[in-house]
Amino acid sequence: MARYTPMIEQYMKVKDENKDAFLFFRLGDFYELFFDDALKAAKELEITLTQRDGGDEKIPMCGVPFHSAENYIKTLIDKGYKVAICEQVEDPQTAKGVVKREVVQIVTPGTVMEGNMLDESENNYITSIDQHTDGYVIAYADLTTGETFISKMKATIQDVISELYNRPVKEIVLPTSFPEEEQSSLSAYLNVTLSYQDETSIPDHFDYLVEGLESKELINGFGRLFQYIHHSQKRFLSHLQAVEYVPVEQYMKLDLYSKRNLELMESIRDKSQKGTLLSVLDRTSTAMGARRLKKWIDRPLLSKETIEKRHAQVESLMTMFFEREALRDQLKHVYDLERLAGRVSYGNVNARDLLQLKKSLAKVPDIKATLNQFDDDLITDLLGDISPYDAMYQLLDSSIHEEPPILITEGGIIKDGYHAQLDEYREASRNGRQWVAELEASERERTGVKSLKVGYNKVFGYYIEVTKANLYAIDDERYERKQTLANAERFITPELKEKEKLILEAKDKSVALEYDLFVEIREEMKQYIPLLQRLAEQISEIDVLVSFAFVSEENNYLKPVMNDTQVLAVQGARHPVVEHVMQEEFVPNDFFMEEDTDILLITGPNMAGKSTYMRQLGLLAIMAQIGCFVPASRANLPIFDQIFTRIGAADDLVSGQSTFMVEMLEAQYAVTNASNNSLILFDEIGRGTSTYDGMALAQSIVEYLHDHVGAKTLFATHYHELTTLEDNLTHLQNVHVEVDEQDGEVVFLHHIKPGKADKSYGVHVAKLADLPHEIIDRANYLLQTFESTQSIKDDLVQEQQLTLFEETASESTHQELEVYKDIQNLNLMEMTPMEAMNTLHSL
Ligand code: ADP
Repeated sequence: MARYTPMIEQYMKVKDENKDAFLFFRLGDFYELFFDDALKAAKELEITLTQRDGGDEKIPMCGVPFHSAENYIKTLIDKGYKVAICEQVEDPQTAKGVVKREVVQIVTPGTVMEGNMLDESENNYITSIDQHTDGYVIAYADLTTGETFISKMKATIQDVISELYNRPVKEIVLPTSFPEEEQSSLSAYLNVTLSYQDETSIPDHFDYLVEGLESKELINGFGRLFQYIHHSQKRFLSHLQAVEYVPVEQYMKLDLYSKRNLELMESIRDKSQKGTLLSVLDRTSTAMGARRLKKWIDRPLLSKETIEKRHAQVESLMTMFFEREALRDQLKHVYDLERLAGRVSYGNVNARDLLQLKKSLAKVPDIKATLNQFDDDLITDLLGDISPYDAMYQLLDSSIHEEPPILITEGGIIKDGYHAQLDEYREASRNGRQWVAELEASERERTGVKSLKVGYNKVFGYYIEVTKANLYAIDDERYERKQTLANAERFITPELKEKEKLILEAKDKSVALEYDLFVEIREEMKQYIPLLQRLAEQISEIDVLVSFAFVSEENNYLKPVMNDTQVLAVQGARHPVVEHVMQEEFVPNDFFMEEDTDILLITGPNMAGKSTYMRQLGLLAIMAQIGCFVPASRANLPIFDQIFTRIGAADDLVSGQSTFMVEMLEAQYAVTNASNNSLILFDEIGRGTSTYDGMALAQSIVEYLHDHVGAKTLFATHYHELTTLEDNLTHLQNVHVEVDEQDGEVVFLHHIKPGKADKSYGVHVAKLADLPHEIIDRANYLLQTFESTQSIKDDLVQEQQLTLFEETASESTHQELEVYKDIQNLNLMEMTPMEAMNTLHSL
């Protein structure tokens, strides 16, 4: 066994207790990393790997400067790692032997508190998951805002993933006994760090956190999270709010596929916010509002009463244009109260933060006054009694300087007049400096030397400087020579030194006192945290409602009528996102489904607008149920308990399943979970397999939905044969997308009409896509042949089973075979997309 130096021994002991984190080991002005940590960190952080004498051998080492550590930590956290910060906990000057060091905090993706590591428009959740015989308990906390909540689900791990999907969950805490397979599913579908904690107790004085929780399962679930947070943060967080139980059954259930396919908050293409429902609806003015909007989109409501209340609020805000705009403007001046409250509790709030708090509080009376101008209790009540904020405002207004520095250790934070002793120190220091300033004038006069100067530097303090040419005039024996420069001499006098002492002492004392006062104010602010959190909640709600009103007016949305009769009647509906990005006019469409109509079978060529039509309804339903108005000219909607989708590109995120398998999984999930109050959107089910197979599956799925589920279903298909189902299935109706054909040219009108489509236009779409005319001509020819043959379907089936190239080769030239071989021989893994395109072009 190699022998190490005492310091490395110390390192190894600490590292042993923090195996799953990078250990940032404080050495003077650096955080150093050793051994494997160093090797890995050097790569991840792109910093230089060096070596250090570790005793018998040299050991790998790398380091980051203490003052810029935050950025490095952020990089590691963003990559899902954890960082344990190990500080020197005794003064190196007085320490005997190796300086004592301790881990003071473990920064993890779910527990970061520093502003620059966070996205202000997004929560930063850490959750815990517990498995029970009949389901799961999921506890949440956002340390930056103090919010905590817990849900229980009778469900499978897939449902848990659906629940968490889209939610900004950064870290999941599990018991070590959590099943391996389920752990893999979690990390496969969600971009999270998994952590472990087996302790679930809640210390007595934190009982209030779990007071409202009814079962031991819930309390333990939160306890696990609490213990993990406590162990990693090494402190108790006073701003954590009492845990709220969120009954998942009170919200619309959206599975993973629907959240993804409907592009609620994340686009399918690049996972950005562009082109999402969120991007259209988010005109919030505060970070708190932006976060709340995401929560609302994530949890559409089921209670008709609550939905209608939000609609009524949005309506009021829409009618009073000037007042609403005034609100928007006032809200823009409100800082992130929730996170500021979090920083107060965490103890890392600085004077500028407190100033932001003060400025935000200053806006509250204005907001209240504007709300009061609305003749609607639903609006005026949005902000309760604001008088409790006065004391907090007074405290901040009397104490915190208007332009404080970031550092709280350099003075300049506290206002004059706040504290008598501080004022005295400042007065002393001011007087002293005044005396020094006057000294220059009086000495010039006394000596007659016009160039005599009084200056200050860090080494010698205050001095009197006289140029060599004027030294003759200095005859005072109190002048003591202190420093000789090239062409001047510097002197001090006993009086000057005395004043200097006074000034410096006063300065030191006032800086120290300012720091103490600041800490005191910070502590005093802690009592206001619940108040701030309540205010934040109210402000964020106002913000989202104002945003809804603004967006609804700007985009001409209309207040939907909600029914509980399963009637669906929407006129002139538009797709909220597509209508924005389109160059041409978006063609509005209607949806009419009587109480006993469950299925609309939608036929029409590809590219006609079927899936846009279907998504539109999904988005309309969600918009209505989060309380927003909807893009339509009339809308009467039932309240949907769940939305299921099977739309669009069916590539699976991670599991590498075939397109067809994913399609079937999505269908399975919908068919088994939907109720007759659900909405199902199925686009081209069965497309991923051969024609007969696909058609057979599509038909049997339609029949099953019709006979057993009764959910409102939009079913788009290009199997025209299915339109005959209307004759036998009483709750099914055919609709189709209108197409205009003139001189063999097809024009898509994007207009949905009753009845079935009379033909398919696949070849026309191919033509629109500018496929080479040889292909188009050939396809037209084949189509005619198929259509004229009795055994069309046999041909189709056969066609499905031949690959494209085999078919071509069977009746084409040798040359084409060569091309086929060339293509087969391409090394696609090695080619850039550009090379691939060029090769294809030349072929
Ligand atoms: P399908 O599902 O029938 O293949 P899509 O819904 O994908 O067709 O729509 C095809 C194209 O038509 C899209 O690019 C979309 O922008 C446009 N489109 C769809 N619906 C409309 C509409 N109602 N008005 C105008 N353009 C539309």
